[in-house]
Amino acid sequence: MKPEPINFHDLTREALRLQVVRWGFSPVHAARLWAYVYLEDVERWADMPELPARFRAKAESELTFTRLPVALEQHSADGFTRKYLLALADDRRIETVLMRFTGRVTACISSQAGCAMGCVFCATGQMGFARHLAAGEIVAQALHVDRVLRVAGQGERLRNIVLMGMGEPLHNYDAVMTATDILCDSAGLSLGTKQVTLSTVGVVPGILRLADEGRPIHLAVSLHGATQAERAALVPVAKKWPLDELMDACRYYIAKQQRRIFYEWTLIEGKNDSPDNAHAVGRLLQGQNAQVNLIPLNPTAGYGGAPTGQDAARRFQQILREYHLPSTIRQRRGIDIAAGCGQLATSQS
Ligand code: SF4
Repeated sequence: MKPEPINFHDLTREALRLQVVRWGFSPVHAARLWAYVYLEDVERWADMPELPARFRAKAESELTFTRLPVALEQHSADGFTRKYLLALADDRRIETVLMRFTGRVTACISSQAGCAMGCVFCATGQMGFARHLAAGEIVAQALHVDRVLRVAGQGERLRNIVLMGMGEPLHNYDAVMTATDILCDSAGLSLGTKQVTLSTVGVVPGILRLADEGRPIHLAVSLHGATQAERAALVPVAKKWPLDELMDACRYYIAKQQRRIFYEWTLIEGKNDSPDNAHAVGRLLQGQNAQVNLIPLNPTAGYGGAPTGQDAARRFQQILREYHLPSTIRQRRGIDIAAGCGQLATSQS
């Protein structure tokens, strides 16, 4: 029986080189194939004339490319956000978001179809876990956004990635890191590792591994509650990795990596947005090399909470200043296209 084809986008440049040598061809062909795909956006074998016909025939019979057709596309009224519902080969759907902030384009990328973490306010959490994405399915989302920019023809390229879409990236560690290696490869899309931000809900073993591996990507940790009980009510995974363990892991990461951690705090009216809550965050994080990102809740059908208003958010931020904690209040971009993760996929299922 013929083995399953290898997915090109699952391979790092080194893995492709080894594969091509195993077939008995020169590594030069691997380098040219890599450049066709990642530098020239060519994925049709017939459009690769610089590769010998015999090599092309072998590669075509052994390799396949990840294709993620657009099942649905929405543009926000403010023009800053485009959301894509992309179809996987098994017909599941994932979300990828293109966001424009001043002077840069960021892609928000999914790492899983669904999510096992069950955060109560999150549409993806409400839908449950379907499966991990392969590295190539993560890479292909970034390529999709970069292609959108190329087609627009204004000289813009994708420069930033946030792994904050559907899924918990540290629950799919190996595929996420392989994808990051591919996207940051200097002979490809060439994203700087400092332009990649990974957001975790607090998977402690993954944070420790990230610290030990010394990968210079930004780490964001979703906190949402500053006591074990309050956090566990919003983020069930806190029962597995309690707050004190999470804080130990974060301090280890900061010390080992000499890097700041970004803490995400979803502001939910009447739930975790009081002055007492802000003081609790201040006491918890005081002295850490940390920044707090305050994000008013994206309302979802499965959760009754409402977003905190601007005044209460500013009061919260003011209290954090008393603890010398820098913070930002994030704008809720793309609300009209359900830009909170999982909302578009849920509405289409
Ligand atoms: S917030 Fe993130 S970790 Fe939590 S359920 Fe949603 S996708 Fe999963």
